[in-house]
Amino acid sequence: MNLQNNIKHLEDADRRHIWHPFTQMQEWEEGTPVVITEGRDSSIRDIYGKWYIDGVSSLWVNTFGHRKKEIDDAIKAQVDRISHSTMLGLSNEPAIRLAEKLVYLFDLSLSRVFYSDNGSTAVEVALKMAFQYWQLMGEKHKVSFLSLNNAYHGDTLGAVSVGGIDIFHKTFGPLLFKTYKAPSPYCYRCEDGRQYPDCGLFCIRRMEEILQRHHQDIAAVIIEPLVQAAGGMIISPAGYLRQVRELCTKYNVLLIADEVATGFGRTGKMFACEHEEVVPDIICLSKGITGGYLPLAATLATEEIYRAFLGEFKDLKTFFHGHSYTGNPLACAAALACLDIFDKEETLKNMAPKAALLENWLGEMESLPHVGNVRVKGLMAGVELVKDRQTKAPYAWEDKMGWKVALHAMDNGVFIRPLGNVIVIMPPLSISSENLQQMLKVIGDAIISATS
Ligand code: PMP
Repeated sequence: MNLQNNIKHLEDADRRHIWHPFTQMQEWEEGTPVVITEGRDSSIRDIYGKWYIDGVSSLWVNTFGHRKKEIDDAIKAQVDRISHSTMLGLSNEPAIRLAEKLVYLFDLSLSRVFYSDNGSTAVEVALKMAFQYWQLMGEKHKVSFLSLNNAYHGDTLGAVSVGGIDIFHKTFGPLLFKTYKAPSPYCYRCEDGRQYPDCGLFCIRRMEEILQRHHQDIAAVIIEPLVQAAGGMIISPAGYLRQVRELCTKYNVLLIADEVATGFGRTGKMFACEHEEVVPDIICLSKGITGGYLPLAATLATEEIYRAFLGEFKDLKTFFHGHSYTGNPLACAAALACLDIFDKEETLKNMAPKAALLENWLGEMESLPHVGNVRVKGLMAGVELVKDRQTKAPYAWEDKMGWKVALHAMDNGVFIRPLGNVIVIMPPLSISSENLQQMLKVIGDAIISATS
């Protein structure tokens, strides 16, 4: 098959056989898929040879760019030993070494690591752990969860139950368990119509009302600390996270921090919880854990939670949960290499000027006539486009405004994927300032062009 025929074959076969995630396939089938064949640093290349800056880190996972030598080498070295063995009844060296490193990142406050392989499973594990913990503690009525409007914790049914984005989650309503829902800390569109900071964090008071009334039924509060990511890069106001922690302690419910999107440097600190010196009872990690190389997740719990599960074989206190690829050695080897890079390259320190650059650019964007609100934490940003700035009226879903911006950017060599009307900007932490500037210029032009 010559090159042209090969390309044509791949495009056709994709349209005929692949069902893409979060994608209206009728439209997809009418278009031409962009098939990626190669990556280098912060860019990816399609089958025609066109390069794109990876503006959303291959869906928020990539940390140090593509083909990072140290990660490549770590995986290759592990392949030469063993690629996979099970954690059910066995252990493996990379999984042990990684667990040791992870718990030290939390000063041993979270001392137990349960591996799985994606963000949704990390959340499922956390929910089931919290639930069974209270059962084992004899608090049998603590069977429910409190989560937030606009929350996103993954696509498995437990994770969807604690989700709060109607467009994604409503269809599955009849399949879900019931949860208590607190307001989203979304200051631009405050559910109570209040203004920050005069509101005195009214959303926290609303959460407290629910806890006051129902804490006896609630096993845990689950939140995305600081940034409700898939909800539209909604940044919670200062002090919000800390107060959630205080409420959980006061009302004797566990706090589950879902750091799947915010973890591993994305917000400027290793974990978002550090910004407000919060230690959750359970934390969910995935995405950036392997620098965007391989599927891996870890749910970390306190020693106290872990100890509740100890008992005689016959007691059936065991945590009956596990996946085929739990603790996969290749993925753990990649994750170990990533933690070394964080230290060696001082990634967090070096990303600060780039975060400042992004913040400046967002300041400029804010004056555009169809930009309603800009939000940023570290290298995690959203630009919310509105039809009318005065009334904050959004573009209709079918206007596909976010998609128009993304298409324009794509034509000009930047890959981004919007969340409705919110333009997401989330490049690899290692992006060069030049690439970042180039990317922001393209996105700025795309916003202007699509909205005028
Ligand atoms: N939690 C959060 C906060 C997320 O942003 C995501 C994914 N965007 C998930 C969980 C689910 O992760 P995955 O797609 O790996 O299942």
